[in-house]
Amino acid sequence: MKLLLLIGSCLLATSQASEWDYNAEGDNGPADWGKRFPKCNDTASSSRQSPINIVVDNTKYNASLPTPEFINYDVAHATSNLIISNNGHTVVVTPKYASSDSKAQIKYKGKTYELVQFHFHWGSDSKRGSEHTIDGKHFQVEVHFVHYNTDDFNNFNEAKTEEGGLLVYAQFLKSFASSANAGYQEIVPQFEKVKYKGNTTTIPHFKFDTLLSKVPDRIYSYPGSLTTPTCDESVSWIVNSQTVEISQDQMSKFLELKSNKGETNEDLVNNYRPVQKLQQRTVETNVPGSGVTITSSFSMMLMTVLPIAYAFF
Ligand SMILES: [Zn+2]
Repeated sequence: MKLLLLIGSCLLATSQASEWDYNAEGDNGPADWGKRFPKCNDTASSSRQSPINIVVDNTKYNASLPTPEFINYDVAHATSNLIISNNGHTVVVTPKYASSDSKAQIKYKGKTYELVQFHFHWGSDSKRGSEHTIDGKHFQVEVHFVHYNTDDFNNFNEAKTEEGGLLVYAQFLKSFASSANAGYQEIVPQFEKVKYKGNTTTIPHFKFDTLLSKVPDRIYSYPGSLTTPTCDESVSWIVNSQTVEISQDQMSKFLELKSNKGETNEDLVNNYRPVQKLQQRTVETNVPGSGVTITSSFSMMLMTVLPIAYAFF
């Protein structure tokens, strides 16, 4: 239990909460993270910080980009629990696996990654909240399913600082549905039990795949980093462009969470890092019809055709 709690809190609480926050006005906000946590700087041409704005026209279409394979995301894990906690930065759900063959995993590009925890980033309204943006557009919630590479590393902490160590699958949510989303209804009502920082409780297990988009994946994939200090550049990102709808009532539960222990009435909201520089990276996609492959060949065609057209007319 102790180990699981430790793992669950590592990603988002590797430092004291007071050392960083999301407040753009103060001294500890995202623009200042790099002063205390040098890896958080995105200025070097070789840097690969996350999140990013995904410009669809600049992505590279790769017809053979593999679709992530979800393993045991459909297991109900009836005999064990999920730990849900508020760490002051987000709400984290950490699975406690009953056996090694029930572990939720993603297989991607020949490696196996085990789900360690998932957590949320959200905004005060529908115009903000997600960390990644697509063509500059935010979604109100982004869920991060955090996995580590079990083929090459013994545990999350070992993998966290190493290239190829982590895989994070990002799912966007928006609050348009009039009825509650059944998958998120397993989690969201528990938020009132973890309203304040430091609150922890358990919830019955359910199938993790109920939290994911049901339509075939249209994904963006790129090399990046943790989006919280210490911003280690160890993450293979998979961003699913298909959103999941939750109800406005479910969304309102996010907005009742607090970022402290109740000393003040400080809402836990807008806990997203602004987008970082793409630098030299390429975002790959399996979405046909998008990306530079098609755009650039079209441009090439125009460049070839236009002078001929002018010559004749
Ligand atoms: Zn996150």
